[in-house]
Amino acid sequence: MYQVLNPFFRIVRSPKSYNSQVGVPISVWQMSQEDKLGIFEAGISMPDEMNSLQSIIQPTIGVFTHLGSAHRENFKSSRSLLLEKLKLFKSCDCIVYCSDDTLVDQEIVYQYEEEKELLSWSKTQRASLQILSEIGDGKNTEIKALYKEKKKEIHLPFCDVASIENAIHCWLCLLHLGLSDKQIFEGMKDLQAVAMRLELKEGQNNCLLINDFYNSDFGSLSIALDLVNQHAKGRKKIIILSDIFQSGFKIQDLYTQVSELLALKKIDKLIGIGNDISSLSKSFQCESIFYPTTEAFLKTIDSNVFNNEIILIRGARDFRFERISSALQYKAHRTILEVNMTAMVHNLNYFRSLLKPQTKLMVMVKAFSYGSGSSEIANLLQYHRVDYLAVAIADEGVELRTDGISTPIVVMNPELHSFETMIEYHLEPEIYNLSVLKSFETVLKKSGLKNYPIHIKLDTGMYRMGFCDSELNELIEYLRDNSHFYIRSVFSHLAGSDEEIHDAYTKSQIEKFEDWSNQIRSAFTYNIDRHILNTAGIERFSKAQFEMVRLGIGLYGVSATKQDQLMNVSTLKTTISQIKWVESGQTVGYNRKGKLNKKSRIGIIPIGYADGFDRRLSNGIGEVLVNGNIASVVGNICMDMCMIDLTNIKAEEGDAVIIFGDDYSLTKIAEKLDTIPYEVLTTVSRRVKRIYFQE
Ligand SMILES: *Cc1c(COP(=O)(O)O)cnc(C)c1O
Repeated sequence: MYQVLNPFFRIVRSPKSYNSQVGVPISVWQMSQEDKLGIFEAGISMPDEMNSLQSIIQPTIGVFTHLGSAHRENFKSSRSLLLEKLKLFKSCDCIVYCSDDTLVDQEIVYQYEEEKELLSWSKTQRASLQILSEIGDGKNTEIKALYKEKKKEIHLPFCDVASIENAIHCWLCLLHLGLSDKQIFEGMKDLQAVAMRLELKEGQNNCLLINDFYNSDFGSLSIALDLVNQHAKGRKKIIILSDIFQSGFKIQDLYTQVSELLALKKIDKLIGIGNDISSLSKSFQCESIFYPTTEAFLKTIDSNVFNNEIILIRGARDFRFERISSALQYKAHRTILEVNMTAMVHNLNYFRSLLKPQTKLMVMVKAFSYGSGSSEIANLLQYHRVDYLAVAIADEGVELRTDGISTPIVVMNPELHSFETMIEYHLEPEIYNLSVLKSFETVLKKSGLKNYPIHIKLDTGMYRMGFCDSELNELIEYLRDNSHFYIRSVFSHLAGSDEEIHDAYTKSQIEKFEDWSNQIRSAFTYNIDRHILNTAGIERFSKAQFEMVRLGIGLYGVSATKQDQLMNVSTLKTTISQIKWVESGQTVGYNRKGKLNKKSRIGIIPIGYADGFDRRLSNGIGEVLVNGNIASVVGNICMDMCMIDLTNIKAEEGDAVIIFGDDYSLTKIAEKLDTIPYEVLTTVSRRVKRIYFQE
């Protein structure tokens, strides 16, 4: 909504998803006299929270996006959750909502029909905005609809259900605000999925860089400056700022305000780039220097010595400030694993779209989240309200708890000596045989705990851990009147869900599971969730989703059937340290394996087998991408570096090298190594710095 309305109104909005009891006031505080429109998100998790948000926002237009089941457990029923949410609209003149959710529709009509204008949209029935058709081609979606007896149309640059739903809410709201069809059409066809991409990077000479080149509006400047202060830790604070477009202010007023903000946030120095900002250089009180273009600044960058400073690099897209960032970046061990959080959320939502709304989701974050990080990933998943996280061993769970993760965590391989730790950190064990159960009971007895949540593993054909059918009766008898345990779930694991040749076997596993788990369920009066599907299972056997599924590799971007629906999450990259010509007949590297039969241009890159670049990729088997071209590995891969053939490739020292990523898939490397993507991901060594992109 902000993106489409931004050219026409001065808008203040919630930064990111600041929708809580703390986030809402922070958002509303940004509002000033000049703002014409405020867009605020309000979210609740407990009864009676909405009243305070309502009185802070006092909205005039209400948009009801989604009832959902998040925090449902804190309410008596879905209806009482709904009633709480609807309190937000007390002061509204109109309410925008989707009438396809009957519960929502009935309640809004019942409460508000008399006193407010109700604007509904629907895919199935008459509504203020009635959706007639929705055609997606995997990338874009064309939607036709009827509004006030007239046909309307929009094109959206995405296809996922949730984004489309959000977009239709916006559409109706925009129509209500009186935008023309053309303004709406133009605005919506270019919507950007990623609104803000702040990135923290290590710079040269102990500098810290905050990259913020996708966002340049005045409204969010203050948030970026707060981030500077948060990370400054005594460093001098510098901002590199481009012209700000479409602020809705006269430029004189705009830059006076920017200057005041810089003073308020105690910024030490401004580097202004662009004609507008340069022309108003006198408006700034702090130390400042101006350049007409990014190129002009880049020319001086070597003489501009930055040292122990924190630098916010923030500019409108046209200024291409990424060039500044790459010039200032730290370049020593430049092998990094970039983890794209936006892609991860996309993948999460894709798998959610394959499930019934009420199906719970457990996400596997074992083995350092398949190599991509621990609390960073868990935090994201917690924010997106997955129901469970699963780790392999207790220590992994402890790490998450220590970093503030409160989502329930299951430990798949609980070791006997770790039971006390597990209890201390509220970790829930997988119980795979009676002896584990009994040992855990002993520890529970000592601590006097009752109803401790456990997860029962059944072995339906993997022949790894778990109870088999002959042990079920004994298990049930043992647990039936046992007050120490509470069975949260029973589950099993599929041995070949990704391969068609095993489909009959998979089905028999699912049948056994249904039968056995029901035997357990029927012996207890409380509800016990069942789950058997992993990633490939969700994709290929979604009927067997029961009450929960366990997502693993799919979150990280690997699919068994529909690779094109997922986004690549991890990119392993490095840079060329050195390039040299080597004569024909010479050999490159250890054991003289890299024999050259022609004069060759050899690049040295700082990634070796100790970083996870498998030594079996030596001597032409492995490939990397340099400026979009494939370069082969020459000679044996060393521990910390390796050599590549650049003879026919345009490349310079310092250029980026992709080991795997968007254009060279993880799966391709896995195939060369005769292994699976799981192994390639999890063997990227811990010394390779993970860098997270996040919205
Ligand atoms: C790792 C694991 C999963 C996830 O498997 P993917 O194939 O990565 O989706 C699910 N269940 C169990 C028990 C696991 O150990």
